[in-house]
Amino acid sequence: MTNASFSVDNRHREAFAPIATPDRLLLGPGPSNAHPTVLEALARTPIGHLDPLYVELMSEVQELLRYAWQTDNRLTLPMSGTGSAAMEATLANTIEPGDTVLVAVKGYFGLRLADMAGRYRAEVKTIEKPWGEWFSLEELEAALIEHRPAILAMVHAETSTGVCQPMEGVGDLCRKHNCLLLLDTVTSLGGVPLYIDEWKVDLAYSCSQKGLSCPPGLGPFTMGPRAEEKMAARKDKVPNWYLDVSLLNKYWGSDRVYHHTAPVNMNFGMREALRLLADEGLDQAWARHRRNAESLWSGLEQLGLSMLVPADRRLPTLTTVRIPEGVDGKAFSLHLLNQHGIEVGGGLGVLAGKIWRIGLMGYNSTPDNVDRLLNLFETELPRFSGSLAAAA
Ligand SMILES: *Cc1c(COP(=O)(O)O)cnc(C)c1O
Repeated sequence: MTNASFSVDNRHREAFAPIATPDRLLLGPGPSNAHPTVLEALARTPIGHLDPLYVELMSEVQELLRYAWQTDNRLTLPMSGTGSAAMEATLANTIEPGDTVLVAVKGYFGLRLADMAGRYRAEVKTIEKPWGEWFSLEELEAALIEHRPAILAMVHAETSTGVCQPMEGVGDLCRKHNCLLLLDTVTSLGGVPLYIDEWKVDLAYSCSQKGLSCPPGLGPFTMGPRAEEKMAARKDKVPNWYLDVSLLNKYWGSDRVYHHTAPVNMNFGMREALRLLADEGLDQAWARHRRNAESLWSGLEQLGLSMLVPADRRLPTLTTVRIPEGVDGKAFSLHLLNQHGIEVGGGLGVLAGKIWRIGLMGYNSTPDNVDRLLNLFETELPRFSGSLAAAA
């Protein structure tokens, strides 16, 4: 029996066309394009999240992630959520209220770490460098001595500035001063040399959509034995049910107890993305990212453009280029998007309007993409510089 006083307004019927998104080339700070076979994996029919075949796939994803990160950490798994969810998981599981967390801020994502740590009631201390710079061991040690933190949190590949933080010796400093080292590897995993165990990193996270050639939706997470110890000694429960690694590990570990319904297709995609990385070889993938970035840098320099970051500290995955005086940077990137289907990013925070951010990540790090972009900079950019643009 229907209730005559309620009726459904069906005006949406036929009002919407089926989805038709364009094929963009995503050369910004992320997401990057997914590899075609990753997209095929995503389109497979889902299987149950407790199906023995799925359980096997979970173990493969974990094993491949350990390889990508060069770690033996038992607690290595993709969080259901983007990189920020995995970021939050590193903090939520280890911070106890009142713990001092020292955040080394040299760009936008360092600020996010500080914001999140405060929400878990850490006593947050920061040291800061101007955007475009990095920390020396001496600066980090002075701050460790001054603040005596339980955790030092920092960003390896700062996507807002294009700087790669040198990591040699940082892990030893943290052991010497008895604190955990937490590292954001969102824009380095898969594209930039990264050795979680050798660098003595206790906690790290990443995302699926940058160096791994997968769409956004998963946040790889890893936790080493020292961080596990801190988590095990907590007085209270982890204050975030969804990201509680001790609960999640009952599903990802040997018990296979239901926690939340895994985004199974995203994990199909992740397995394929990581398989492709292993097939290429991690060192080969790193070398490819470096080669292509170097040819982008020299091509841009030949056009008279300059990079924000000195060559030895530049990220191969994300290049920051100064917008020349008199050029409307936003108009040029909109032109690239609308006329050529290519996305490049703009600056964040203090760098807004000052730089473009060009990503060559994962599947997108190819000589063809570099050539295509350099050609457009050469032929189209002159139309966007002040005098010429005014005349046009
Ligand atoms: C993209 C990014 C994040 C956040 O990841 P999401 O997947 O956008 O949540 C965190 N840190 C860095 C350095 C990033 O580049």
